[in-house]
Amino acid sequence: MDITRTECPQCGSEVTGLNGRYACALCGWVNHWSQGTADLPGAEEDPDGPEPEIVPPAPPVQGPPHRR
Ligand SMILES: [Zn+2]
Repeated sequence: MDITRTECPQCGSEVTGLNGRYACALCGWVNHWSQGTADLPGAEEDPDGPEPEIVPPAPPVQGPPHRR
């Protein structure tokens, strides 16, 4: 992670951010996430992300159950 700085385009104060993401504490300005320097990891690439949902294949339909 890189700590970066920029000037708030709304109020002109210095804003610090991470990886090109900024949020101004004074006026509430935030830049768009796509302006960040780091690509957002996809779910597959994020080791901390949730496991991808694995849908098991439906079991084959068998004969009438519970035949006694
Ligand atoms: Zn601002």
